[in-house]
Amino acid sequence: MLKKILAEFLILVVLTAIFLSSAEANHRPKIRVLISRDIFQLKISGAHLSVAELPSGRQLFKYRDFFTVLREKGPFLKVSENGAWAKGFVLTSTQGYISILGRKYKGQILLYPGNNRDIWIINELPLEEYLVGLVNKEISSQWPLAAVKAQVVAARTYAYYQKEKRADNLYDVEASVNDQVYGGIESEDERARKAVRETEREIIFYQGKPIFAVYHACCGGKTEAPAYVWSGDYPYLQSIPCIYCLDSPHFVWHYQLKLERLEKILRDKGYIHQPIKEILAGPRNENKRIVKIIIKRDGDTLEIPAPEFRQLLGYDQLRSTNFWVKIINRVVSFSGLGWGHGVGLCQWGARGLAETGADYQSIIKYYYQNVEIGKRF
Ligand SMILES: [Zn+2]
Repeated sequence: MLKKILAEFLILVVLTAIFLSSAEANHRPKIRVLISRDIFQLKISGAHLSVAELPSGRQLFKYRDFFTVLREKGPFLKVSENGAWAKGFVLTSTQGYISILGRKYKGQILLYPGNNRDIWIINELPLEEYLVGLVNKEISSQWPLAAVKAQVVAARTYAYYQKEKRADNLYDVEASVNDQVYGGIESEDERARKAVRETEREIIFYQGKPIFAVYHACCGGKTEAPAYVWSGDYPYLQSIPCIYCLDSPHFVWHYQLKLERLEKILRDKGYIHQPIKEILAGPRNENKRIVKIIIKRDGDTLEIPAPEFRQLLGYDQLRSTNFWVKIINRVVSFSGLGWGHGVGLCQWGARGLAETGADYQSIIKYYYQNVEIGKRF
């Protein structure tokens, strides 16, 4: 009798364990990452690739190692090898990865026709795996572990925030500086995985909700208030002093371009062509950043909001809106402080703070005010 009760008890334990682990697997959140667009013909490789059409999910073929997808007229894609048409395709591989545009990705690949007669390439994978492939694209996993963990928790929170906001879209985040840079499998390493594992499921909350956890490379001495970059109310994103990024190679930057080149950029962006006579860094806000740039020309004066001017010249060229400008011998010279929009967590500052011995929770609470860190899902 005792044996029977014991056996039944053991069966119950095993069944409960199986149920819990499958429930956990089912609740492992995924994320849809836009890898690329503006692609019109796509070569895909991998081992044992299977392709199903969307939205039906009907399998078209399996166990291929290579095939090509083309954009067709109307809202359709076509597999060039067998002529199958659909409004989208989903690709999986038994090998564990799929090679697209020279990079390897985990999970599955979704292909949709874009609205520019292009193909949208979306990688859907577990969110925690996405974070492992993000660390070395945003910072370096070799930085002090507290800084890497702060980056991971901020990136996880940002991903969550966008997942909820963009639930009706075809993707949650872009794999670029528009959201968070993601490099696929080849960007992963053991230290990035350790930072993800040791902060598993941790999210930054403000009044019970995931925050808009934005970050940037280097603030240049003071972070920016969000109102100068985005509309909306983010009480946890306040401008704060930061001396911890002083050692960053991006603290001071210089950029030069020929006056003719700037005139061409303006012309290409739709401004009527006029020779430029003078460029003035317009008024600065209380966080030292320029609000607008004033360009005096033969016959008119252009006033361009500084964030828009940064976009015109390129985010990697005009690295921040905290700069000085002068024209010498028909060359426009910019010198500035920091890299990025300046709002939220300063990545190089997080590294500096970690070097002082701060833990990742303190780093997060320094750059995001009145927040809590807790586990989600
Ligand atoms: Zn900083």
